[in-house]
Amino acid sequence: MNIHEYQAKELLQSFAVPVPAGGIAFNATQARQAAEEIGGSRWVVKAQIHAGGRGKAGGVKVVNSLDEVGKAADSLIGSRLVTHQTGPEGSLVQRVWVEQASQIRQEFYLGFVIDRASQRITVIASSEGGMDIEEVAKVSPEKIIKEVIDPAIGLRDFQCRKVATAIGLKGKLMPQAVKLMKAIYRCMRDKDVLQAEVNPLAVVGSADDEKLMVLDAKFNFDDNALYRQRTITEMRDLGEEDPKEVEASGHGLNYIALDGNIGCIVNGAGLAMASLDAITLHGGRPANFLDVGGGASPEKVTNACRIVLEDPNVKCILVNIFAGINRCDWIATGLIQAYESLKIKVPLIVRLAGTNVEEGRKILAESGLSFITAENLDTAAAKAVAIVKG
Ligand code: GDP
Ligand code: MN
Repeated sequence: MNIHEYQAKELLQSFAVPVPAGGIAFNATQARQAAEEIGGSRWVVKAQIHAGGRGKAGGVKVVNSLDEVGKAADSLIGSRLVTHQTGPEGSLVQRVWVEQASQIRQEFYLGFVIDRASQRITVIASSEGGMDIEEVAKVSPEKIIKEVIDPAIGLRDFQCRKVATAIGLKGKLMPQAVKLMKAIYRCMRDKDVLQAEVNPLAVVGSADDEKLMVLDAKFNFDDNALYRQRTITEMRDLGEEDPKEVEASGHGLNYIALDGNIGCIVNGAGLAMASLDAITLHGGRPANFLDVGGGASPEKVTNACRIVLEDPNVKCILVNIFAGINRCDWIATGLIQAYESLKIKVPLIVRLAGTNVEEGRKILAESGLSFITAENLDTAAAKAVAIVKG
């Protein structure tokens, strides 16, 4: 689960990480009020969407008067911001974060990710912070510093100093950097964060009063740990999520929207991934990932069909079931129910194997409905691709 920048900043602040004073606003009046409360004479109005790259897309506006705060909020709220991460349709801006403008002296990148190779939380930092970190990673990877954290002893001061030194922080900024990194690490552990990204981490203020401050933050949380993270779960913004994915999770289905035209209903995440591969291998493009899970009732199968068909691009559905805990007869019953209740018009290619497979096939055959059956995944995928290609 992702959260907005302002939520990440509020969270960081609760771990004593310095962030600029700011306020959230859903309209221009609220934005002006927030700016007035913050005080000063320069503010940044920032579009709150889950995608990055807002700066380059015009979603971050530095302004010098309360009128301009209102205007910036007005122009952003209700618009669709298109960044290199949103896709061409963009993301609807529903709120802006108004914060005190900072006198930026230097920008850094600081990230905490789980490195799959070492299976450990790893600090990633770079002196080349700001907006183009992906470019830095490509062109000058030596400018990216990595420090692996031992989970048994946690992030040590010397490691923080090593990272800080490597990106050029020294003097009074050193103890600030140590404190800040340890606080983000603690936040990550306490809140089940999968990825925390601060870009930019900035040195702000006048030459004789330099301070480290988090100017932008992106957090991603472990969905499987949300049951024990109530305050995080409350930050969920369903408006940022695919409505089909939200509906699916409410039915206990694991659905991820993709951009092809072959809908998929599969049991088990591994088999679902294999099905996507098989479709791709035959030259087709899957419209979604969907794992119905074990013990899928006919109702669950019907729900799965409905969610898959909510995607207007879907030209046929590939059902691939290798039943262990599942029962092919239940799946078949569910498919027939779905066929009738949803008045399905697209072809259904069904591959059944495993528990009660004979009963399942019999139910499909006797239904009089035009299911296209396949003996194995490979032929099922080939048939689906042949259908969409006409
Ligand atoms: P992103 O483009 O979505 O990552 O949005 P950011 O919050 O990182 O903003 C993009 C850029 O706006 C930053 O890299 C800053 O250089 C710039 N910016 C300029 N002045 C300010 C300021 O006072 N505060 C903040 N937060 N950003 C500023
Ligand atoms: Mn940023």
